[in-house]
Amino acid sequence: MQIALAGIGKIAVDQHVPALSASEDWELAATVSRSGTVDGVDPFDSLDAMLEACPEIRVVSLCLPPVPRFEYAAKALAAGRHVMLEKPPGATLSECAELERMARARGLSIYATWHSREAQQVAAAKAWLADKTLKSLHITWREDVRRWHPGQDWIFEPGGLGVFDPGINALSILTEILPDAIHLREAVLSFPDNRQAPIAAKLGFRHPGEAAISCDFDFRQEGEQTWEIEAVCAEGTLKLTHGGAQMFVDGAPAGDALTGLDGEYPRLYAKMAQLVRNGRIDMDLSPMRHVADAFLLGRRETVAPFHF
Ligand code: NAP
Repeated sequence: MQIALAGIGKIAVDQHVPALSASEDWELAATVSRSGTVDGVDPFDSLDAMLEACPEIRVVSLCLPPVPRFEYAAKALAAGRHVMLEKPPGATLSECAELERMARARGLSIYATWHSREAQQVAAAKAWLADKTLKSLHITWREDVRRWHPGQDWIFEPGGLGVFDPGINALSILTEILPDAIHLREAVLSFPDNRQAPIAAKLGFRHPGEAAISCDFDFRQEGEQTWEIEAVCAEGTLKLTHGGAQMFVDGAPAGDALTGLDGEYPRLYAKMAQLVRNGRIDMDLSPMRHVADAFLLGRRETVAPFHF
């Protein structure tokens, strides 16, 4: 199937283009970008121009930041194209619901991707936790914003999510692997004096079995980066490290050996191909709901100004 990629920035170049090049399902047939191009692929500088010139391209994958993404997604759906959304799927919950409604009304596929759910050991962790009694769970998601988002001022603008841009990845794993629904109980959000989005956040959740569930997100971590989830259960302790790529039970390596497609983005694009073939929609907004709740309920504290 032919696909167009819009927003040729960091994640498009790092992940989407290589995943599409290696895929048997997809041919990258066009790019939409104000500045970027991909060798050998037809470039367009506006989505309207691409939609008009390329009726044979039935699928559009959007790699823009969340705030400008809605206009692109709505245009693509209105023009009868299936749509794949980078995470987070939008800037507000209501606009995501509107995109889903538009897709349903037109019989189109739309996929709110969560790349971290495709990390190697997420499915194994979910299977392990399914019959365990959870006592507590703690997420540590601490990374260096200068390293992963160099110069991306949009991330600290309204709708850019700040530290929830990576934090939502942790929440996408959490909502995937936990057998029970949880909801936010408390949050503290640390806003740099000169920015509109938090640079760190601490969250606490209410769990139906009264397990203590907490998150520590921080964008200021230099040196070693930490993306870990530790779940203490009556039957043993599960640890997911490296963003879900490695799994340990009671300190011993566990989980699944590598089989099938290797990598988060190849697996996302394989799922998108299935959704389009089967005429399905996948719009799970639960990670974003928890982030919205943190903005609703969180206590705000002001911390030192941040400059890239
Ligand atoms: P980025 O490089 O700053 O931006 C991606 C592209 O979006 C830009 O190159 C630009 O494309 C376009 N764009 C930016 N602002 C725009 C605007 N106002 N209107 C229209 N187009 C605009 O960002 P990124 O790191 O690739 O992140 C994009 C999305 O991917 C985010 O939602 C992020 O959460 C997600 N993501 C990022 C990473 C990562 O490591 N950076 C990892 C996983 C997921 P043109 O100049 O080509 O038009």
